[in-house]
Amino acid sequence: MARLLIIGCGGVAQVAISKCCQNSDVFEEIMIASRTVSKCEAMKEKLEGTTKTVIKTAQIDADDVEALTKLIKDYAPDAVLNVALPYQDLTIMDACLAAGVHYIDTANYEPEDTDDPKWRAIYEKRCKELGFSAYFDYSWQWAYEDKFKDAGLTALLGTGFDPGVTSVFAAYAKKHYFDEIHTIDILDCNGGDHGYPFATNFNPEINLREVSAPGSYMENGKWVEIPAMSIKREYDFDGVGKKDMYLLHHEEIEALGRNMPEVKRIRFFMTFGQSYLTHMNCLENVGMLSTTPINFNGQEIVPIQFLKALLPDPASLGPRTVGKTNIGCIFTGIKDGKERSIYIYNVCDHQECYKEVGSQAISYTTGVPAMIGAMMVVTGQWKQPGVFTTDEFDPDPYMEALNKWGLPWQVVENPVLVD
Ligand code: NDP
Repeated sequence: MARLLIIGCGGVAQVAISKCCQNSDVFEEIMIASRTVSKCEAMKEKLEGTTKTVIKTAQIDADDVEALTKLIKDYAPDAVLNVALPYQDLTIMDACLAAGVHYIDTANYEPEDTDDPKWRAIYEKRCKELGFSAYFDYSWQWAYEDKFKDAGLTALLGTGFDPGVTSVFAAYAKKHYFDEIHTIDILDCNGGDHGYPFATNFNPEINLREVSAPGSYMENGKWVEIPAMSIKREYDFDGVGKKDMYLLHHEEIEALGRNMPEVKRIRFFMTFGQSYLTHMNCLENVGMLSTTPINFNGQEIVPIQFLKALLPDPASLGPRTVGKTNIGCIFTGIKDGKERSIYIYNVCDHQECYKEVGSQAISYTTGVPAMIGAMMVVTGQWKQPGVFTTDEFDPDPYMEALNKWGLPWQVVENPVLVD
């Protein structure tokens, strides 16, 4: 029986909250705390009467470490689940340390202001030394390793689908299917259609920053960076069909590259339709993806934040989105002296997710693993002092929980490989 403080009440959080409420045997009590408290109250109202979980709400600005520490101390949860934005990762980790509570999130740290000279100096040094230029990386959170270790607390990073489940798939493949893994291709296919000319499936600012950045992959322990969207492949996905996919930089490459150095190549591909890419290129060309504030009629606005205000709220796409997602990893390597290749993946249906929790599959495939990660920590199955990604624990209980909580997976031998 545990008490969980959930920070954020957007698309992903709403699924994680619904799933915690389905899992009342573990989550006896939750508190939903976010910037806009009315969203937390609406969730409480929607779920109360359908669950044994006791739900509380609070208003919090998670950038304010002092206020957040006080909230955590007052509520005294077993763990904090951060499903706000990556901008809040470090302040929430600080507050968890100050209050002596375990920490869980779904995305690695990224600064809100990429023009901040202090951050920029460290970023530019990292770009030169490591060879990839994404704004997000694990170094900021891995730097908390000693603090969490000394405090006897667990920080579980990136327990969404990708990263999160994909890294658990890697640990599972290593444990049960291979003596040596040689390559990992992570494939993220969204065959969903929401009927809008342009919308993003999760927070637009985070999503568009990720997609418009240069791609990169790891080969023999080194990063190889390529211009955005310059490596394209077609793949025939079970449940979806043929889709174009593009090589992107993605955070699990960094963690798997560190934790499984024997793997020779790790790549990440995501599917995009031509219309999405044309809209994104156009928005980028006119400066709408910029994070640098501009002055407009005496008011300072950040173009990408203004764009976010114009685009459909990802949490509102649920009723309109039809089709399926197929997300998984192709592994190649050696077992008992013979070459082997497998694809481990989940297929998720947008409308079924909507019927169950009122959200589309992108929020669902992230929110379910967020609940599972929190469950692993509060039940003690994944509890160890320090800072960890999901590939660093025993994958079996997590894989079992995926089947039980709505993300069943399958393993296919000899899949079509990506060249
Ligand atoms: P949303 O924008 O829908 O929701 C973010 C929520 O955080 C909102 O409720 C927002 O409040 C709240 N919030 C923002 N800033 C603060 C703050 N300073 N203090 C308190 N609350 C705050 O985002 P998503 O639900 O789409 O994404 C949530 C997280 O999930 C992100 O970190 C994203 O990167 C991650 N993600 C991970 C994936 C994975 O597979 N690993 C896939 C998809 C997303 P308000 O309502 O006031 O705006």
